[in-house]
Amino acid sequence: MDKPFDVVVCGGGIAGIAAAVAAVRNGAKTCLLEKEYALGGLATLGLIVIYLPLDDGDGTLMSGGIAEELLKLSYKYAPVKRLPDEWRNPASKAERAGKRYQTEYSPGAMILACEELLLNEGVTIYYDAHVTGVVKDSGLCGVTLSTKRGPRDILGHAFVDCTGDADICWMAGERTVDDPTNVRTGWHYTYDGTDLRLRGLSDPLYGEIPATSRRYSGTLLEDISQNVIDGRRFILDNLKKLRETNPDVYPFLIPSYHGLRMTRRLAADFEFSEDAHERVWFPDAIGMIGNWKRPHLRYSLPYSAIAGKRNDNLYVAGRCCAAEKSGWDLTRVIPTCSVTGQAAGTAAAIRALTGKPVEVAPLQETLVRDGVILDRSLMDTVYGGQ
Ligand SMILES: Cc1cc2nc3c(=O)[nH]c(=O)nc-3n(C[C@H](O)[C@H](O)[C@H](O)COP(=O)(O)OP(=O)(O)OC[C@H]3O[C@@H](n4cnc5c(N)ncnc54)[C@H](O)[C@@H]3O)c2cc1C
Repeated sequence: MDKPFDVVVCGGGIAGIAAAVAAVRNGAKTCLLEKEYALGGLATLGLIVIYLPLDDGDGTLMSGGIAEELLKLSYKYAPVKRLPDEWRNPASKAERAGKRYQTEYSPGAMILACEELLLNEGVTIYYDAHVTGVVKDSGLCGVTLSTKRGPRDILGHAFVDCTGDADICWMAGERTVDDPTNVRTGWHYTYDGTDLRLRGLSDPLYGEIPATSRRYSGTLLEDISQNVIDGRRFILDNLKKLRETNPDVYPFLIPSYHGLRMTRRLAADFEFSEDAHERVWFPDAIGMIGNWKRPHLRYSLPYSAIAGKRNDNLYVAGRCCAAEKSGWDLTRVIPTCSVTGQAAGTAAAIRALTGKPVEVAPLQETLVRDGVILDRSLMDTVYGGQ
């Protein structure tokens, strides 16, 4: 039987990367389990290569720590693209206002840089490591992988569900919510010998979808498969149209991952919402974000969004943490996945190393020490009126 890790991070997308880095830096022997053969999930294999803003649109940085570190890492091995100089270099708040702190990056450079980071930090990475079950004793004490040599248990003291689909929550008996309203997408790159172009194909996310299209569940085998197939047809149809005017254009790189945005997430009694919680300070805040869709909006994120309800050593990060539908649209994007990843990885490390339930105040102190912005003065009201 393998010795237990302190922290086992399941899923190596952006949230998993941030969680693993946070856990190992906080002294936890950390393992990351990823079913594919590269880190990044949607943000690399899915070709979703726009690191949305870390600011509020008025020149204030909302998300620091690992969220900012990963944004910078995205151009370590590639030219920096569409990142305003005002955010790259020292500048005043007034100079930064109106210029969003976001960038477009190369998926290959991001995969290489993230893997190098995790290995340098001392994270054990297992690829081809599909988590298909959980091990319970008096509580959650391991996850089961489906490997080429049969099932294998990876034991741990604390766990972080970064699968994007709340797989671990679902298997560990947490209450989860499915979203069957995903649309057809097909982000890809085309090239014609001179112009390499990212094409963000998607049916409308908020409005009516075309009559010829449909909606998909992110947890049903048939729907996931059909979403992938329909996404490829979407790319092919688009390509045929492009080639009518430019016969040299061809699909340079297509996604090797699904294009589903919101699949399954942790359910909580209280859930973060886009409108209701704008400029609301949660006393148990574990991070802060802006709104990628509109400037002038600020949020704090509650601890309840990332903490398992029925397993006191299970944490959740990324697009499967708890939020109601509008809040989900903010928690699912890359910068917020980094923020919740850092918080969940830190909480898991504290849980594993102390053997006790995590208290919010020391968690917040550790996060602030590690660069996370937790600034009550940026908010207008306090949740619960305290
Ligand atoms: C079409 C589309 C456009 C988008 N546009 C943007 C954008 O422009 N900018 C932006 O910031 N965000 C955008 N997003 C959202 C963002 O890309 C994702 O929500 C975010 O990258 C999710 O990160 P994650 O780590 O939570 O999940 P994922 O990226 O889904 O990572 C989960 C990882 O876990 C692994 N995994 C899953 N299940 C298991 C298991 N059982 N065992 C082991 N490993 C497992 C997966 O292989 C994957 O590597 C977009 C998303 C979509 C679909």
